Amino acid sequence: MTIAQLSRKNIQALTPYQSARRLGGKGDVWLNANEYPTSPTFDLTDRDRTFNRYPEPQPQAVVEGYARYAGVRPENVLVSRGGDESIELIIRAFCEADDTVLYCPPTYGMYAVSAETCGIACKTVPLTVDFQLNLVEIERQLDGVKVVFVCSPNNPTGNLLKRSDLLELLQMTAGRAIVVVDEAYIEFCPEATMATALADYPHLAIIRTLSKAFGLAGLRCGFTLANAELIQILQKVIAPYPLPIPVADIAAQALQPNGIAQMQRQAAEILANRTDLQKNLANSPLVEYIFPSEANYILVKFKEGQPLFNALWDQGIILRNQHNALGLQNCIRITIGTAAENAKVIQAILNI
Ligand SMILES: *Cc1c(COP(=O)(O)O)cnc(C)c1O
Repeated sequence: MTIAQLSRKNIQALTPYQSARRLGGKGDVWLNANEYPTSPTFDLTDRDRTFNRYPEPQPQAVVEGYARYAGVRPENVLVSRGGDESIELIIRAFCEADDTVLYCPPTYGMYAVSAETCGIACKTVPLTVDFQLNLVEIERQLDGVKVVFVCSPNNPTGNLLKRSDLLELLQMTAGRAIVVVDEAYIEFCPEATMATALADYPHLAIIRTLSKAFGLAGLRCGFTLANAELIQILQKVIAPYPLPIPVADIAAQALQPNGIAQMQRQAAEILANRTDLQKNLANSPLVEYIFPSEANYILVKFKEGQPLFNALWDQGIILRNQHNALGLQNCIRITIGTAAENAKVIQAILNI
């Protein structure tokens, strides 16, 4: 047998996540991964640089800092290697081989990739035309479903899911399935968080990350917020030492009050730049529709999305093509960059 034949059948069949980095590109304007366009800086000079000992399994300064920021207790927080690790931990901890995972496309691709990697089947219930939950259909499909993934603000559409729908989803799944609300972009609309509902729903898990508004995608640090019983189950399956010491040091600094204040200034600046980008794009005859956004990216439907995407790609302006996502023909997702980067996008589009 070849090495490929020796691998698990579901891995042989797996199409890996098409991450922005994997898709490549050459250029100086990177608006394809919803990163913050500049990096915060950290003082690492006077820190104890010894690495012979294993790190804390759940570094206390990071857990306490994030709990303070999120308005929950430390027992409600699990820190992991990015929000992506949280997705996989939840599937591994809760799904038996014949359970299924349900998600609502168009949405974030990692729910499907993580489920397939674990050999767990997926059910999909597409979002409605206005990108909201189809609760009637979700309820009809719920047999055998152990984990439901929803994303709010949703990537790549940018809209929030209605709070009343999320609460209804939590009610219909009580005692049956875990509901994961992915809040990777919640810093851009903090009042929409479901963290305030945690006390009422033991089967709610919320995914957070330092990769977006905090500007720390390179750090690989994310969080799960949930009731203590659920967090303790995830503790059983997470790697013994998930966070390297330098990562924990930097994350702890980012979660100090001045780090939080800096993140909030960054988020406010992105929102102002988003408004400018939306206004300027609306002047282009190539644009068919700009979807409203609550996050640091906008989804734009063009009359001809593919040639426009390729033309900007060739000029070193790398956006995220959504043409093949469910219902998103001719749509491109544009991360909000610096004012200068956004101006380059506008100029390039107006020049076509
Ligand atoms: C970016 C993102 C994440 C997590 O990213 P990490 O870098 O692994 O923390 C999770 N969900 C969505 C929807 C995202 O866009």
